[in-house]
Amino acid sequence: MYPAQFEYFRAVSVEEAVALLHRHKDAKVLAGGHSLIPIMKLRLAEPAAVIDIGHIHILRGISHHGSVIRVGALTTHATIASSEVLQNECPLLSEAAGRIGDPQVRNKGTIGGNIAHADPASDLPAVLLTLGANIQLAGPSGNRTVAASDFFTDLLETEVRDNEVITAIDFPPLAAGGGASYLKFEHPASGYAICGAAAVVKMDGDTCREARLAFNGVTATPHDAAAVGSALAGSTLSDDAIADALEVNLRIEEPLGDIQASGEYRVELAKVYGRRALQQARNRAR
Ligand SMILES: Cc1cc2nc3c(=O)[nH]c(=O)nc-3n(C[C@H](O)[C@H](O)[C@H](O)COP(=O)(O)OP(=O)(O)OC[C@H]3O[C@@H](n4cnc5c(N)ncnc54)[C@H](O)[C@@H]3O)c2cc1C
Repeated sequence: MYPAQFEYFRAVSVEEAVALLHRHKDAKVLAGGHSLIPIMKLRLAEPAAVIDIGHIHILRGISHHGSVIRVGALTTHATIASSEVLQNECPLLSEAAGRIGDPQVRNKGTIGGNIAHADPASDLPAVLLTLGANIQLAGPSGNRTVAASDFFTDLLETEVRDNEVITAIDFPPLAAGGGASYLKFEHPASGYAICGAAAVVKMDGDTCREARLAFNGVTATPHDAAAVGSALAGSTLSDDAIADALEVNLRIEEPLGDIQASGEYRVELAKVYGRRALQQARNRAR
């Protein structure tokens, strides 16, 4: 299978990438190519121009300054999974990135490409929601920040405008008393999430001060189970409290159903994986 003809441009700076996107109306950014190239080969996307951002080195890497960890948009899943900074300060993101696909996918796929593509079965969207992450975007009129909770707008749709580039993702380190977990029921061939549950909790002794839970793979955009988190704040986060909070507060409208799993099955998976992720996050709280 071959893609339709397209013009290829290699940008060496964010400004050049934005200028090229502005000039070529029907253009696509190319990062790791692990989603864009397949859909171009399938002719599901036929951009007139491809802007390769893979050589903009400033977009790669992980930094930690004070209360902000920043991951450049071109940072690969493999780098995120093996990063000492993230393993120590935000183990949830490393854990989820380490579960993506296979080594080839992890070595080429990037965090920016993953969230820009916004596949509902991707692992990172729900994780970024529970981390309270912010997505940094650069465009012709400057930079802007979009909260992860506003970023994913529909199936394969995001807040990124046609002439914008994701430059980085920011989030705070795990708080003292914090614990986190990412668990998924995955498709055996691709590794994509049929249901992925991301949980972050903050314990103060035996009391849960904050709990966040979100799901991949179950709905068109990552599902934020905020009502479950609210119900658990102030509890002891016992197994019973978690089970009750999920039973009473987990309401998932319009679950996705396809050849791999029905909507009803995904909702059942969410209950089980949500419970296990919250329990594991609690057990890991430090
Ligand atoms: C066999 C296989 C298995 C996989 N399994 C999993 C899995 O288990 N879990 C999972 O989460 N993912 C999985 N993936 C997806 C993979 O993780 C990549 O993250 C994903 O393919 C996109 O990242 P990329 O860097 O390759 O982006 P590309 O393919 O280069 O781009 C994807 C889209 O994002 C846009 N884009 C890319 N970078 C930017 C940017 N900086 N700013 C604006 N737009 C941008 C592109 O224009 C394009 O529309 C799998 C992929 C394959 C091929």
